[in-house]
Amino acid sequence: MKVLSVNCGSSSLKFQLYEMPEEKALISGVFERIGMKESFYTIKINGEKIKTETDLPNHKVAFEFLIKELKENKIVKSLDEIKGIGHRVVQGGSYFDKTVVVDEDVIAKIDELSSLAPLHNPAAITGIRAAQEVVPNATQTVVFDTAFHQTMEEENYLYAVPYEWYTDYKVRRYGAHGTSHKYVALRANQILGRNNTKLITCHIGNGASISAVKNGECINTSMGLTPNAGLIMGSRCGDIDATIVPYIMEKTKMSPKEVDTALNKKSGLLGISGVSSDSRDVEDGINKGNKRCALAQKMYVRRIIDYIAKYYVELEGCDAIIFTAGVGENSIGTRREVMDGLKVLGVIADPEANNVRGKETLITTKDSKIPCYIIPTDEELMIARDTYLLAK
Ligand code: ADP
Repeated sequence: MKVLSVNCGSSSLKFQLYEMPEEKALISGVFERIGMKESFYTIKINGEKIKTETDLPNHKVAFEFLIKELKENKIVKSLDEIKGIGHRVVQGGSYFDKTVVVDEDVIAKIDELSSLAPLHNPAAITGIRAAQEVVPNATQTVVFDTAFHQTMEEENYLYAVPYEWYTDYKVRRYGAHGTSHKYVALRANQILGRNNTKLITCHIGNGASISAVKNGECINTSMGLTPNAGLIMGSRCGDIDATIVPYIMEKTKMSPKEVDTALNKKSGLLGISGVSSDSRDVEDGINKGNKRCALAQKMYVRRIIDYIAKYYVELEGCDAIIFTAGVGENSIGTRREVMDGLKVLGVIADPEANNVRGKETLITTKDSKIPCYIIPTDEELMIARDTYLLAK
């Protein structure tokens, strides 16, 4: 059975087609600058990348090009071969604790939650509508980034603010990157050979979050109401004293939107280093003696260690720590600094094993009390798995 994973951003559409249940990736691609000038798309097939520049006025046109490529590359003969299409949705609120088949009620709920994910949820609906029109016979599903975190207890998802903010405005911790945390936790359990485990999963990319996972279920996570909580990120501040916001608004006369932009786009590694949100540039800066880059990296690593320590206590131990996503899979330095900061918990890094990028690897020594692993994430595959089960 062929299953398509789709990830729509406001101006992009990423996809990957799988043969299931073999989990064989057949073709993937990304459409960029949808609805803008100079739009284009890139297709990856048999290890080869082909770029096409073409007008992409909306997601439906992008979807039509996607189908055209599947046919021209002889991946499918008829659209009926695509039995399932799974869409990534960032915010599922408290409505969804698992992947579901799309119907009008599901779309209405995704739409209702748009105020919590204004860039992402409307884009996902556009993608669903486009897929429904172009491939009407496929089972369409939605896979939520928040679903994995719905197992958290009230005491972990509530904020200590007036309770009405929760009942009236749904202010609570929803988490993010759930599909990734779930994928690496499943894989870690396979590696450890059991399911009754205590894991700390670190998804550290441009956006970043850490989860505490007990027996395969999330019990706590660092992201909050929105994807700007917890860790210090590329350009997001993560946890701060909430009163900074009204204080700065009063001092600078910034509007709520301007402060929000500053906290999401001008903070984090970028804000402190003044150089870049990309950890590679910050590393370069450190190598050139830039003090603010060194300070940014120190703060970044400190926050990761703090969360791991917090979840170690909450889980009452830890069977494995997992590093994944852009920085987690690729930044040798960041991983080493985090592991060195966890010496007190008995973590012993293996510098040789850690000298690797993007490959599943045990990066601690045999004597380490907690093994640490790199496990490359695969959100698209996770979407395909859920969709396959529902379409079957
Ligand atoms: P997103 O949150 O956008 O999905 P990714 O998980 O793709 O982010 O992570 C992107 C980030 O990963 C980059 O901004 C960069 O900081 C980091 N990164 C990628 N490659 C490397 C590398 N070789 N060394 C250090 N950091 C890297």
